[in-house]
Amino acid sequence: MNRWVYLFSEGSKEQKDLLGGKGANLAEMTKLGLPVPTGFTVTTEACLYYLNHGNQLISDMKDQVMDAVEKLSAKTGKKFGDMENPLLVSVRSGSKFSMPGMMDTVLNLGLNDQTVAALASNSQNERFAYDCYRRLLQMFGNVVMGMDNSDFENRITALKKVNGLSFDNELTADHWNQIVSEYKEIYRKKLQREFPQDPIEQLYLAIEAVFGSWNNQRAKTYRRLHDISDDLGTAVNIQEMVFGNFGDSSGTGVVFSRNPSLGDPGLFGEYLINAQGEDVVAGVRTPKPIQVLADELPEQFQQLKSICEDLEKHYQDMQDVEFTIEREKLFILQTRSGKRTSKAALTILLDFYKEGIINEAELVSRIEAKDLEAALHPNFDEDALKNRVSFLSGLAASPGAATGAAYFTAEAATEAKARGERVVLVREETSPEDIEGIAVSEAVITSRGGMTSHAAVVARGMGICSVVGCERLTVLEENKATVGEEVIEEGTILSVDGTSGKIYFGEIPMEEVTNTVALDELHVIWDRHAKIKVRANAETPKDIATGMALGAVGIGLARTEHMFFEKSRLLQFRQLILADSLDERLEVLKDLKQVQKQDFKFMYEAAEGKPTTIRLLDPPLHEFLPKGADEYREVAKELGKTYNEVKRKTDNLAEVNPMLGFRGLRLGVAYPEIYQMQAEAIIEAACEVTKETGLAIQPEIMIPFTIDAQEFARVRSSIEEAIQRSLKEYKQDLSYQIGTMIEIPRACFVADEIAQHADFFSFGTNDLTQMALGLSRDDSPRIINQYMEAGIFADDPFQVLDESGVGALMKLAIERGRQVNPKLKIGICGEAAAHPKSIAFLNNLAIDYISCSPFRIPQAKMTLAQDAL
Ligand code: PEP
Ligand code: MG
Repeated sequence: MNRWVYLFSEGSKEQKDLLGGKGANLAEMTKLGLPVPTGFTVTTEACLYYLNHGNQLISDMKDQVMDAVEKLSAKTGKKFGDMENPLLVSVRSGSKFSMPGMMDTVLNLGLNDQTVAALASNSQNERFAYDCYRRLLQMFGNVVMGMDNSDFENRITALKKVNGLSFDNELTADHWNQIVSEYKEIYRKKLQREFPQDPIEQLYLAIEAVFGSWNNQRAKTYRRLHDISDDLGTAVNIQEMVFGNFGDSSGTGVVFSRNPSLGDPGLFGEYLINAQGEDVVAGVRTPKPIQVLADELPEQFQQLKSICEDLEKHYQDMQDVEFTIEREKLFILQTRSGKRTSKAALTILLDFYKEGIINEAELVSRIEAKDLEAALHPNFDEDALKNRVSFLSGLAASPGAATGAAYFTAEAATEAKARGERVVLVREETSPEDIEGIAVSEAVITSRGGMTSHAAVVARGMGICSVVGCERLTVLEENKATVGEEVIEEGTILSVDGTSGKIYFGEIPMEEVTNTVALDELHVIWDRHAKIKVRANAETPKDIATGMALGAVGIGLARTEHMFFEKSRLLQFRQLILADSLDERLEVLKDLKQVQKQDFKFMYEAAEGKPTTIRLLDPPLHEFLPKGADEYREVAKELGKTYNEVKRKTDNLAEVNPMLGFRGLRLGVAYPEIYQMQAEAIIEAACEVTKETGLAIQPEIMIPFTIDAQEFARVRSSIEEAIQRSLKEYKQDLSYQIGTMIEIPRACFVADEIAQHADFFSFGTNDLTQMALGLSRDDSPRIINQYMEAGIFADDPFQVLDESGVGALMKLAIERGRQVNPKLKIGICGEAAAHPKSIAFLNNLAIDYISCSPFRIPQAKMTLAQDAL
């Protein structure tokens, strides 16, 4: 025989599938000996059986329910429908996951025209008894029979008005008696039948209504939005009533065991004296803060506080507790894990750890990425977001959320910012010239480009929220874009969610509480567990400082070409690449060396002596060349060249496939003087900072785009020459390393040959992925999306390391490199490195560090620590 019903004394918290969350916790609290009114649960299996077999309560279920009612009677000494001492119950739904969209509660079930009189005489409180009865009529009518609640509420409002009263608790027994008659009349009129007087019929109807509510539209929508399976069903909890509306020594309330917004310890919540549960949420009267209960009913307050503390310890989680006090006796009606803001989530876990409620491993494993993310970036208010529909989406390139006015050029963005506007920069794609526009924007949106495109990398580095590759976005002109029929004009207010990749029209309020949890404590703990270190991809003093503050142990990738994104620098850089002769180039290099030296000094100081890997120039030239007649004219004027000279040289340098073109050390082979200048600047800056600060600066010079051992050796020896010159001039000794990026498949195969000349490797998985998969890092989002939709790719390989392809190449390179040089230091600095899914794989490779954008460091460290547990 199937078991459809469990007494609270028979279940436990582990049985959420069968008893629902509420039922399982009521059972657990009963087991713990807490003051829970007795009751029983009709299982989720009963619900599913009911729904799948013609919506009928089979006799077997009814028998088991009646059997449990008998046991309840025996325990309470009261009887269902009894004229002397009637048993009243509450009926509540409770599925495995809390679902606010479902039917919820019917109270005072068991009352009828006779039992209400018994309740009045037993309690010697007629007002109370008729208040209970009208509540039953109202809730049963609304929740079970689907009547409109306002039909009932209007009667109370009218009665109060006639009598010049403001609050429900001012109504007398006679008033409630009158309301009961009116309610019964409404019931008769609307449903063409009487309110059922038989408590057993009431009970069966209520159970059926709860079962049926599993499939109501609100519940279905809620499940769809929250990814909850339709196959779970809901349980029904039937529990002896306790009365918070008995008088002034009774009351009811809801408390959190800690503050759910901030995480501070201590009870947080509210209550109402002389009220039943629904009054607190319904806003009939204004509830009082729970701390007032300490004065009003001090003993009960202390008991509630100590129960909440016990529950927290038992569940090892912050609890959301419903309670009722009936004539000074406290009852707990429900406990569940409390919803909280991200800030509260982190604070509570850290406090639990300090209070000994959880151990270090639990602390490490229980922090959720979304909470950590929210600690670093602002977010939209969750409730506000629920009611909004996005009109555009793309790749979630850089997390956080922001609202601002749309502008389509860096200049317009900068001007708008200067006027005091908040700005969202909307571009087809971005280039180094947009850098100032990006820096003043709250968010950046592009229609083209993937997770490693210029906009994505730069915005992520700056901690600005960004959504890239929005395919449906067409940027038409400098002041207009379209998305299907929708038009975005200059000044249109957009809200951008860089965490979900969604974009909305209009303003969305931000989450009020921003996180101020000191991550320092967590870093110390994560560092104790993680096997792999985390460095920052950063080059500006600000980004480096952010990286250090967010727990980086050094810099793993300083992209020196990023140091030329500022307008004045860009011009110098253009002068370098547009130079016609060695002399002209050397002239520019002389100035650039001073500028770079200063840059590197700032960098070393910001990194406070931690290991610093500086990558020599790797400029995909198309990112730096002037574009179009206006820019040719401007550059020609600034550099003292003719328009035609600039155009000719630009045409000469233009490449069909610049990402595979004149990049990286190809530049160093063609123009050794450029890398020599950089090496000198790196070394001389290190000498000066060492001398000035006493920090032992040990630069790691990284050569990009290596294909071949001879190629690398040639460039290495050329820069070593320059380094020796500088050291001689400075009369200083300094230890430094020269290593290479491994980002071309061939370099993986010949890693043993390269390792004979290199002091370290750092995998550039952005380029390695581009080349291993033959997918352009800038043009592939459409293809990748299609492949993901078709199920060919599980993830975007530029976001999550492609283990079987790129990962296999990495393994090979590590194996071959270390065969020759067992001490070879190995890192990874491509964007995929920091993704939690990549980290599981990287943890098994013998690499020394991961390097990523500053704002991704905490999550990378957390995942490394969690994986190592
Ligand atoms: C890479 O290719 O993974 C890398 C880190 O270098 P960049 O993104 O600058 O090409
Ligand atoms: Mg690269």
